[in-house]
Amino acid sequence: MENKRIEAQYEALGISPKVYQFGAKIEHELAQRFLDIDKTAEFNQMKVIAAMQKNHVSAECFAMSNGYGYNDLGRDTLEKVYASCFGGEDALVRPQITCGTHALALALMSNLRPGDELLSPVGKPYDTLEEVIGIRPSKGSLAEYGISYRQVDLLPDGSFDYENIRKAINEKTRLVTIQRSKGYQTRPSLSVAKIGELITFVKSIKPDVLCMVDNCYGEFVEEREPLEVGADMIVGSLIKNPGGGLAPIGGYIVGKKECIENAAYRLTSPGLGKEVGASLNVISSFYQGLFQAPVVTAGALKGAIFAANIYEKLGFPVIPNGSESRHDIIQAVTLNSPEGLIAFCKGIQAAAPVDSYVTPEPWAMPGYDSEVIMAAGAFVQGSSIELSADGPLKPPYAVYFQGGLTWYHAKLGILMSLQKLYEQNLVNTNMM
Ligand SMILES: *Cc1c(COP(=O)(O)O)cnc(C)c1O
Repeated sequence: MENKRIEAQYEALGISPKVYQFGAKIEHELAQRFLDIDKTAEFNQMKVIAAMQKNHVSAECFAMSNGYGYNDLGRDTLEKVYASCFGGEDALVRPQITCGTHALALALMSNLRPGDELLSPVGKPYDTLEEVIGIRPSKGSLAEYGISYRQVDLLPDGSFDYENIRKAINEKTRLVTIQRSKGYQTRPSLSVAKIGELITFVKSIKPDVLCMVDNCYGEFVEEREPLEVGADMIVGSLIKNPGGGLAPIGGYIVGKKECIENAAYRLTSPGLGKEVGASLNVISSFYQGLFQAPVVTAGALKGAIFAANIYEKLGFPVIPNGSESRHDIIQAVTLNSPEGLIAFCKGIQAAAPVDSYVTPEPWAMPGYDSEVIMAAGAFVQGSSIELSADGPLKPPYAVYFQGGLTWYHAKLGILMSLQKLYEQNLVNTNMM
């Protein structure tokens, strides 16, 4: 079964035969799941190609625009491609949207007005949104503009608290924000089907409320996307799944025409909207990245499932577990000791194509109450569709791990993390 020539390649990179063979056994057991992931990628690849063909992507689309960017064919066509691909009426896909948080802030600030209320029916939103909303006071937050916020937590079993969601919706409720990925929390990530159920419920109480989905880390993980189950807007980052690892910057909003128009007027200026915003030299990487994104996401997903199964077999708690269905690309592994967490991150770093020779060390990162260790050797700074891992140096010493531009690199990263634990006697070798 094992190919000795390939094993030798891993050994040359520092993976011992024992670790390699344990990985090979786990990989073998995952054959059917990997086939299913490939089928999803195939489905989504066709979806992307169809969107490109329908909107007549041509060589002219890759030309650079500068200055005001009037009549930027590449930019305008790409936005049509995103709209077709994700099932929206229109889209805003721009390098001027600096990151996922910016895209989410833009969608919220442009579609809410003073006196409106924002509701999160899925508990606490992603950390960086706390300042956008004003949960943690911040300059320029929604709260400063007189936009209030309400939150309904998920029930202990991770399901929606329909009764309290019903009570929370009132005459001021204008927008409901639903985060698809658990991010760095321990709640389950939401399937598109579940998101659809929640949206149907919300709209049955108040039909004109806008439903926005924070789609970060979720794109192309399933065959359907949230706009297909009733969302009005989806929002995400191009240095995660939909940029396919090639987009060097950017964010997107796809959805109802009016929502996108509001966002465009806010991003540029009232009166200008989508008409300005040169795409400079990055536009072709947006196209190529989207083209590759289904396959890149599949690789990252295989890596997450591989890691879950490796570490679960060795007795470490993992979220999601080795067998449950996936709705995003994040994997958490609880390593139970600072040495384990550090060793894991050192392995991820040592497997990287970039900066593999540096050693990650815990540091006191601003905004955190404990030291944090991070590992990433990425072509694009901070890109989390590329293989990366981080975790706070405090009990239970959980690492959050995601990405991998190719499955093979994700596999090497995970084997290298295990190698580092193995070398320090932090794993029970009887379980391998
Ligand atoms: C990454 C992420 C964000 C923020 O994106 P940045 O690009 O890091 O600003 C928001 N929500 C979720 C669920 C994310 O995963």
